[in-house]
Amino acid sequence: MKGDVLWTPLLTELNRWRDAGKTVTFWLRDDDAIVPTAALDQLLDVTGRYRIPVTLAVIPAGTGAALADRLKEVSHAAVAVHGWAHINHAAEGRKKQELGGPARQPETVLAELADGYALLADLFGNRFTPLLVPPWNRIDAGLLSSLGEIGFAALSVYGAEKPAPIRMVNTHVDVMDWHGTRGGRDHGALVGETVARLKHVFAHGGTVGILTHHLVHDQTVWDFLETLFAVTAHHPACRWASVTDILAEG
Ligand SMILES: [Zn+2]
Repeated sequence: MKGDVLWTPLLTELNRWRDAGKTVTFWLRDDDAIVPTAALDQLLDVTGRYRIPVTLAVIPAGTGAALADRLKEVSHAAVAVHGWAHINHAAEGRKKQELGGPARQPETVLAELADGYALLADLFGNRFTPLLVPPWNRIDAGLLSSLGEIGFAALSVYGAEKPAPIRMVNTHVDVMDWHGTRGGRDHGALVGETVARLKHVFAHGGTVGILTHHLVHDQTVWDFLETLFAVTAHHPACRWASVTDILAEG
């Protein structure tokens, strides 16, 4: 928990920020929501208890009024566009991709994204944020210059932000061990990555984006999030912001 030696490096780094009179911005992106589930309830509960704004990357093709109604019950969830149907069009053995790749015409992909944008904007109203989150964090670079015409203000993938024809607000720490246990990653490793990102942001600016997938969380992940929020939510050098606020700040 909070005093756990495992978490000391994060507290030490946040204290360095505090002593320098600086504040770091954290944000939380959670992918693959379609409908209300017990796992979504758990995510909304833990984030709500610590007043952590959460950006849900919602898959347009599968979602509907049930999710919109559920999100009306809370005030801390925003909705971003998670591709169109989260369908892999890449050839067998290739990295999974919906937004682009050799099998896809750019105009088809852009038409799907325009449909997804319109559908979610209509369904979620003031919860909607014009952020594109590509499924599998993968999109052809050639599509990026057309996203602004659809209405997107920013793109969010995984890893350090790179120069692009659209603003990028990425995630930097992924709680899931996709290639190993397919459960939550080791807390010490996650703390280490969070501290590394904090050091980068201290020197170069940016945000710390935490990436979660509520539908596949095991207890390890829920425990990590609970402790991360307990350590950071009230730390004077730390601010959890909604992506809507981050976009508004420019
Ligand atoms: Zn996804």
